[in-house]
Amino acid sequence: METPVKHPTDQIELPSYQQQSPEVAAHFAELNARPVVMTVGGVGRVFESAQGQITALRNIEFEVRQREFISVIGPSGCGKSTLIRIVSGLEQCTSGAVLIDGKPVVGPGPDRGMVFQAYTLFPWLTVKANVMFGPSMKGVSRDEAEKQALEWLRVVGLSQFAEHYPNQLSGGMKQRVAIARALANQPRILLMDEPFGALDAQTRASMQAHLLKICASVDITILFITHDLDEAIYLSDRVVVLGAHPGRVLEVIEVPVPRPRSVDQFLSGPFLATKARLEELIHHRTATDESAAA
Ligand code: ADP
Ligand code: MG
Repeated sequence: METPVKHPTDQIELPSYQQQSPEVAAHFAELNARPVVMTVGGVGRVFESAQGQITALRNIEFEVRQREFISVIGPSGCGKSTLIRIVSGLEQCTSGAVLIDGKPVVGPGPDRGMVFQAYTLFPWLTVKANVMFGPSMKGVSRDEAEKQALEWLRVVGLSQFAEHYPNQLSGGMKQRVAIARALANQPRILLMDEPFGALDAQTRASMQAHLLKICASVDITILFITHDLDEAIYLSDRVVVLGAHPGRVLEVIEVPVPRPRSVDQFLSGPFLATKARLEELIHHRTATDESAAA
């Protein structure tokens, strides 16, 4: 018999994760009054494999409002990457639909930018040229593309590295270039699949701070995939929690932590209460699924 591991938060009285301060309640009232930019409507995805059918996603349903930061969290293999690829148009769903401004997604489009976990820069181009690439392809003049690229590099804190090549940069810096390059295409929606997953803890923390700053200054809606509970709470307005086998929505949580966010909040009551709920949903469910399968 396994004795359950006692979590430190079991010992202190936490507020409910559903309890919102007047400030937080006002934030969600304002957010929920904004237009819906993305609808994930009953999305399902079945893969055919040699062993038979794999239901990666079943009936995934949620809405994303303008300028919202929404995270999707869940254990490895629960379908997070499949979901974001369906939203990006790189992959098709086998049931349901994703709507952007009410119109079904049929393929990739300039309204959606994507940042992956692996660095996807062109190694033969300078940092600046990497960021200029998208606007140049769209027919923006060289001077204008350069001006925009330098502005985006300023936003991600890399002005001094414009003339460097990707192999001269650290992992975190490369990922900031990838974000600048995605932003330079001025997508309305930024799709990020575990973008900081390959970074060490310190670089990751600095990337999170950068992303919070970008969100505060750029009109963009972000769908962010992570399996890091702290990261999801720290960055998001809402968190969609997925369970595995089949990937399905367990709960959509409104994060009760006020903005602007800071690292001091990691130990605040609302933060810890949210984390305890996420742990309950993700780890507890996984344990039950495993014992059910045994
Ligand atoms: P996550 O990103 O949450 O780790 P994925 O979306 O990568 O999960 O995968 C979800 C499930 O779908 C897994 O069981 C995976 O093996 C399966 N899967 C993903 N892509 C394919 C594919 N192209 N063919 C068959 N199965 C796939
Ligand atoms: Mg994945």
